[in-house]
Amino acid sequence: MQNKRLYIETFGCQMNVHDSEQMAVLLQSIGYHLTDDPATADLILINTCSIREKAEQKAFSELGRLMKLKEVNPNLIVGFAGCLAQHLGRKVFARVKGVDLVFGTHNIHRLPEMIASVVKSRRKVTQIDFSSSIHSLNIFAPPPKRSLCAFVSIMQGCDNYCAYCVVPFLRGPEMSRIPEDIVHEVRELAKLGVREVTLLGQNVNSYGKKLSEACNFVSLIEKISGIKEIQRIRFTTSHPKDLSDELIDCFAHVPKLCEHIHLPVQSGSNRILRLMNRGYSSEEYLRKIDHLRAVCPQISITSDIIVGFPGETVRDYQETIDMMEKIRFDSVFSFKYSERKGTAAQTLPDKVPESEKRRRLKELQALQDRHTQERNSVLEGSLQEVLVEGRSRNSEQDMMGRARSWKIVNFKGGPELIGEKVFVEITRGYLHSLRGKRLIVKEVGDAAGDEGIGIDA
Ligand code: SAM
Ligand code: SF4
Repeated sequence: MQNKRLYIETFGCQMNVHDSEQMAVLLQSIGYHLTDDPATADLILINTCSIREKAEQKAFSELGRLMKLKEVNPNLIVGFAGCLAQHLGRKVFARVKGVDLVFGTHNIHRLPEMIASVVKSRRKVTQIDFSSSIHSLNIFAPPPKRSLCAFVSIMQGCDNYCAYCVVPFLRGPEMSRIPEDIVHEVRELAKLGVREVTLLGQNVNSYGKKLSEACNFVSLIEKISGIKEIQRIRFTTSHPKDLSDELIDCFAHVPKLCEHIHLPVQSGSNRILRLMNRGYSSEEYLRKIDHLRAVCPQISITSDIIVGFPGETVRDYQETIDMMEKIRFDSVFSFKYSERKGTAAQTLPDKVPESEKRRRLKELQALQDRHTQERNSVLEGSLQEVLVEGRSRNSEQDMMGRARSWKIVNFKGGPELIGEKVFVEITRGYLHSLRGKRLIVKEVGDAAGDEGIGIDA
């Protein structure tokens, strides 16, 4: 088998990160191995995101930079993948000379044959058809470097057509994998040492809606929870309109389900939520937050917010700020509205000027920083279960891992702890992480198999 080098640059969300992992696995089967250095690569893939204009600009500027390597190595193959590739198709060839391959979100499983075709004929290849099946999701991608945590795609596409969003156009209609395939994949990951899985989909709450057999997201979580080696389950992203009481209750009765939910609200104004086609009101959203906190008081709640959606007045924006003050999210990904071709919002009147969007975003982010700091400070003195992932970026003597809340925790320790579940007493809550002291804690199982903890003084 050939021994060739593959460099992948990934933009965008966790879905794209996972897609890139799958590309690497498929290409391994035809002799390509990952490298961190694009200058030594035989094949470069750029996996793109198209959600906002800025993401598109970044992908093209990176493509331009990497194309220079073709001057030194004319045999280098360059492929353009993901949402932007799906959107532009063959137009990429005209925009950037020298690109060999353009393929979309439903064609990852065809990658080895596409590369073989480019190598053999040196002709340009484009594959952007939508498929009516979910071949790509069934590629088994072991996580890189014997990682403890892995992503598992449980569905693809989206049927929601939020007025601002290109995802339904670029990732196609919503399709769920059958539960047996997902459970099998999680078991295989567990055999490789994975202890935490994050179930991925654009709207995981509607998982199983179109499957013939009766299986919804809650029953999928319960099935995965039955896999002994898996210690933690997470999921993203949840859509507020489809977040059922049954799923909320899982935070109380499924011990492996981590106490974190990412629940994008987008706006606190009912008028804007309607224009966005989100399918819930701010009151309904608040009720779900109250229910989540009632069943699981320690739950960490994160969200996405867009400012400057067409027609958003200062009053609408103030309603978003008021909602943030009421809820006090643990963290928020916030964005300036970015106009996307073909979406319903593109045709809406009353566009908000760029300078005003910038002002609102800056103010909102400053408020969220205060809330995040407040939420992290409250954890000082608490005991957090941490799955140790590796060395901390802050100091050679420190290790880092994630608490069940998804917050990063740094503490003193050595590399022998990588892969271990440890307990850390939080001594300081910072804006972007927590710091603490490791405590030696014995986990004691009772006759029913429930775990309790006893702390050695
Ligand atoms: N499916 C998920 C959901 O419904 O929340 C996430 C979709 S998207 C990858 C992630 C976030 O990007 C969205 O929640 C939204 O806040 C933001 N986003 C999507 N389209 C946008 C646009 N045109 N302008 C600004 N932000 C956008
Ligand atoms: Fe986009 Fe809305 Fe679908 Fe999320 S739910 S991917 S924001 S259309």
